[in-house]
Amino acid sequence: MAKTCQKCHMTLEKDIEDCMCLPEGHTCADCAYFRNCTAMGTVRVEGQKVCDWYPIRFRKDRARCFLRYLEQEQKAIEQAIKEAGDKSDKRYLANLLDGHKKRNEIILKEFAKVFGLEG
Ligand SMILES: [Zn+2]
Repeated sequence: MAKTCQKCHMTLEKDIEDCMCLPEGHTCADCAYFRNCTAMGTVRVEGQKVCDWYPIRFRKDRARCFLRYLEQEQKAIEQAIKEAGDKSDKRYLANLLDGHKKRNEIILKEFAKVFGLEG
């Protein structure tokens, strides 16, 4: 008996090939076809996690992923600053900044590698 995907509700006749779900942690905004899909009105919801094409067309665009990561980081920093309020706990803020710095170093290294900007 064919299974049904709990997320995209597709009947998985050929097993995983029929699933329209994007890879874990990704949305349409990470896809190389995002601009085309938006222009054609295929993408209806921002942050969509299921492809509207059949079969699935998702193709990870590393530059788009990187930009989305930066946006998320910026939002996280803004949120943390808001939460810190007038606490002005210097150790808390230092730890917070350290965490962001480490994550950004990793992603910037990855970005340089992907786009051949090393050395
Ligand atoms: Zn699915």
